[in-house]
Amino acid sequence: MSLSDRLKELNRTKKPNSIYCAYIVMYESLSPTDQKALDEAWAQGHSNHTILSALRAEGIKTSNESIRAHRKRFCKCPKD
Ligand SMILES: [Zn+2]
Repeated sequence: MSLSDRLKELNRTKKPNSIYCAYIVMYESLSPTDQKALDEAWAQGHSNHTILSALRAEGIKTSNESIRAHRKRFCKCPKD
């Protein structure tokens, strides 16, 4: 992929006015397989730290703060 294609790709996937928090923006960037695996990891009761470590090991950028805020619903995601 050329640099120009790569930068266009960045813009295509950018969500500047997302109503969702950083965790969901990260989640939405994952493949369906990875999203499912992440859902299952939460369902199995893994700690934030364990899941954060796994995400980071795969080069996925997220933070303990955004995970914790989203899990505790302190984040900016719409609440029902
Ligand atoms: Zn959120």
